[in-house]
Amino acid sequence: MKKILLPEENENLKYYRANLHCHSTLSDGQKSPEQLKNDYKAHGYSILAITDHEIFVPHNDLTDDEFLMLNGYEIESSGSHGKTCHICLIALSPENDEEVCFSPAYLWGNARKNRKMVKVDKKTASLYRPYTKMGINRLIKTGKNNGFFVTYNHPTWSLESYPQYIRYTNADAMEITNYGCVVCGFDDDNGHAYDDLLRKGSKLYCISTDDNHNLYPDFSPDCDSYGGYIMLASKSLKYEDVTSSLKSGLFYSSTGTYCHTGPKILGITYEDGTVTVKTSDARAISYIPCSRDCQIKNADDGETVTEATFKVKKGEKYFRIVVCDSQGYKAYSNAYFL
Ligand SMILES: [Zn+2]
Ligand SMILES: [Zn+2]
Repeated sequence: MKKILLPEENENLKYYRANLHCHSTLSDGQKSPEQLKNDYKAHGYSILAITDHEIFVPHNDLTDDEFLMLNGYEIESSGSHGKTCHICLIALSPENDEEVCFSPAYLWGNARKNRKMVKVDKKTASLYRPYTKMGINRLIKTGKNNGFFVTYNHPTWSLESYPQYIRYTNADAMEITNYGCVVCGFDDDNGHAYDDLLRKGSKLYCISTDDNHNLYPDFSPDCDSYGGYIMLASKSLKYEDVTSSLKSGLFYSSTGTYCHTGPKILGITYEDGTVTVKTSDARAISYIPCSRDCQIKNADDGETVTEATFKVKKGEKYFRIVVCDSQGYKAYSNAYFL
């Protein structure tokens, strides 16, 4: 029987471009929430989560018929030698307006001044926040138990390697690319970390985000917006439809720059041991399983490919797909467990 893993766009299901990690003047970003919404909308986005540091302010007032604001914020816990762990919490409902984790130790930019705008859940707010396996997992759990989609952010920028990130269980997703870090010089393409977590048994999605602070103008080479995003399939732009797609993994990630839109994954199906992938014009489509048995379809020199089929070997636990365009920009599927 044919199984649709990533559906093709149809009359009932549309793909929307989304940035799930973004900073505004509420903390240490340079653009106001309204300006961010307008600029992302002008760049073809339909969804934006403003995730300021340690300050949860819903932006439902900026949502309109063509653009959805998701509400969230970013929290962190730091250890020694520069190591830190950053997590975004994105509310699954627009009514979810109480901050569930808060630490005064990490109020960047204007966050301290703007704290008075925040509604706090007093039961969970003053969580002790040690940089330990238990401390971080408690933050993830508190977010999830209180109706948030929880993402693990930029392991490379955070100076976190295998011994640290492998400790974090139960996040909904991790950043496979953090464009804001990439554009300022970090190698924050984290496919290896995603594979490590999957191979250890974590069932989490991957997302590309901007994590933009907008220190440099749009249309400049140092612009940290419009380079890391997800394409999310949803029946509408209603808040709960979108977060339900997010929870179900109905999305893929892509990367580009402020002036280059990345490759697309148009659909993934599974039938009788064969995975079929449809894409936009690509230089290569690769299939990455749990084992070493990767497969790839490369285009001939000067040509492109738009479809590939891969035979699933017996015993493989999962696979994921990476698509590379002729300029080297990549799109990433979530991992699919067989
Ligand atoms: Zn961060
Ligand atoms: Zn951030």
